[in-house]
Amino acid sequence: MPRLYDSRKRILVTGGAGFLGSHLIDRLLQQGHEVLCVDNLFTGTKRNMEHLHSNPRFEFMRHDVTFPLYVEADEIYNLACPASPVHYQHDPVQTTKTSVHGAINMLGLAKRLGCRILQASTSEVYGDPAIHPQTESYWGNVNPIGPRSCYDEGKRCAETLFFDYHRQHGLEIKVARIFNTYGPRMHPADGRVVSNFIIQALTGKPITLYGDGNQTRSFCYVDDLVDGLIKLMASPTGFTGPVNLGNPVEFTMKELAELIVSETGSTSTLINEPLPQDDPKQRKPDISVAQTQLGWTPSIPLRDGLKHTIEYFRGDLG
Ligand code: NAD
Ligand code: UDP
Ligand code: UDP
Repeated sequence: MPRLYDSRKRILVTGGAGFLGSHLIDRLLQQGHEVLCVDNLFTGTKRNMEHLHSNPRFEFMRHDVTFPLYVEADEIYNLACPASPVHYQHDPVQTTKTSVHGAINMLGLAKRLGCRILQASTSEVYGDPAIHPQTESYWGNVNPIGPRSCYDEGKRCAETLFFDYHRQHGLEIKVARIFNTYGPRMHPADGRVVSNFIIQALTGKPITLYGDGNQTRSFCYVDDLVDGLIKLMASPTGFTGPVNLGNPVEFTMKELAELIVSETGSTSTLINEPLPQDDPKQRKPDISVAQTQLGWTPSIPLRDGLKHTIEYFRGDLG
């Protein structure tokens, strides 16, 4: 049900035409807020917003966050940044600019408006982690000069900027370290493991396991993640994070492939391909901070989330 008008906020979502951003916008509109989506459509698509155009509380603005932005808002979610290795390595300089210049501009905007700002950071700030599971106090193991660095170091620098604006200018910041998230509207060509495996399984192509497939990831369904972001934004003043948001149930990529083959009823076989450089061997969030500070725990098991995602891609391919 829409909230009363006096609790309606004008919320800016950068990167709102992308996978996570479009789901976040759906939820914010359901709550009765007004949403301004700012996106340069690098990896996002108009299709993700198609269902919103008749909504008078939704507005789209095509804009690159590396350039200054003068708008009005009560809250800012800063999600703009390509997220998959294939996309962020396509133009690595632009990726770093998006994280760093984009953060400066959105922080400058939040400073002028005196509003809360949330940063979509990432588990990649932990790099190839030497401790397991990863807690927020871990400083990470990141290669500063490798092919993933434009993303990892860009996101680390964005976190630095968020905390410096907080300390230096008293800005109300919220930093979420998001772990692998999946669901409908993932870009079919972004090369991420869940979308790759589902598309391969549905089209009867071999499932491409990079390396031996024993590396692990923990997959969070998008609806759970959106809950976490909204709870973080609403958390008490003074709680800045960083806070891990992800599903702590860990799978090997081989297990994921087998689960997807079984859920799709596919005849695809598994093949091994070379492991990309600097590919983290294991990743699993410690979510005790999110549980105690936000009362947040993901509730959707991988098998259920995969069913929704497979259904989406079936429609997309069919
Ligand atoms: P996505 O690629 O689907 O969405 C990113 C959006 O940002 C796209 O719509 C893209 O067009 C837009 N964008 C990119 N550069 C921009 C720029 N310079 N100016 C304006 N818009 C720009 O990715 P996603 O999975 O939805 O990720 C959203 C955010 O969450 C990203 O910041 C990403 O780093 C973070 N994140 C995602 C995951 C995940 O598993 N999906 C994990 C960790 C962090
Ligand atoms: N900025 C913006 N929108 C605003 C206010 C600022 O895009 O409403 C950008 C502007 O480009 C500026 C940057 O945010 O360079 C950082 O702003 P800040 O006030 O921190 O620093 P300034 O560079 O203005 O001293
Ligand atoms: N991966 C894979 N086959 C693919 C795509 C990815 O085995 O077709 C592996 C990849 O090497 C990594 C894991 O799956 O170990 C997750 O990759 P993704 O690109 O989805 O995300 P990230 O590495 O950023 O966690």
